[in-house]
Amino acid sequence: MTLSLDEIKRYSRQLVLPDFGSRQQARLKNAKVMVTGAGGLGCPISVYLTLSGVGRIDIVDMDEVDLTNLNRQFLYGPDDVGKPKVKIAARRLTEINPEIEVNPIVEKITYDNAFDLIKGYDAVVDGTDNFPVRYAVNDACAVNRTPLFHGAVLMYEGRAMSIIPKETACFRCVFPDAPPAGMVPTCREAGVVGSMTGIIGSIQALEAVRYLAGLDIGLKDRILILNTDTMTFDKVNVKRREDCSACGDVFIKKPVDEVCEVRSQ
Ligand SMILES: [Zn+2]
Repeated sequence: MTLSLDEIKRYSRQLVLPDFGSRQQARLKNAKVMVTGAGGLGCPISVYLTLSGVGRIDIVDMDEVDLTNLNRQFLYGPDDVGKPKVKIAARRLTEINPEIEVNPIVEKITYDNAFDLIKGYDAVVDGTDNFPVRYAVNDACAVNRTPLFHGAVLMYEGRAMSIIPKETACFRCVFPDAPPAGMVPTCREAGVVGSMTGIIGSIQALEAVRYLAGLDIGLKDRILILNTDTMTFDKVNVKRREDCSACGDVFIKKPVDEVCEVRSQ
């Protein structure tokens, strides 16, 4: 796949990078990526995938824009309140970069539909904030062998991890089971600042873009933990487990019960 003159100009600031050229850009153009969640993480993730020139982006979310989203979800404004997030996001992203295809999917991801929904993608970048969907996305990516770029934010702490199925630890290798209901508060209960989701979502998008372009990535078998109270970035090494119920030798279905209505960050 060759690049047009407009594309060469649009992406010229990344094409001049020493390890990034037209071959890497063409790989991005050929890539098909799913973004799960169009919220606080989904906004920076989808914007940076769009700006980088990922050829096809499908965004899944069933929520409508709410006024409480507007401290962090920068693809939306007050006029969008009550409208489906993914439709507003897809329109805005297509305006930003008409060279790519953005598809809105108004759908609730469940353990039952995740395995069919997440099929045929070169990568999934996860912007959901709740355990039932996070584990469903992880298990579906493990079974379908789809690289997954995980991220999570709560209060002033954020985490990110890149998962290449059968090669690196998956989310379940590290956290085999979800914490008991109510143990981890949601961002609605505990709070979240917009720039936190901006930082973590940008890291997820950067890892995905580097991976799709064929470059090395830094968060394989590592969880990045960002604490902005002290402004420290720590990396914790993690290991793949052969007996993991998702990516191990034998896949075991382990849906996580939905305990309350959940929303993307
Ligand atoms: Zn695993």
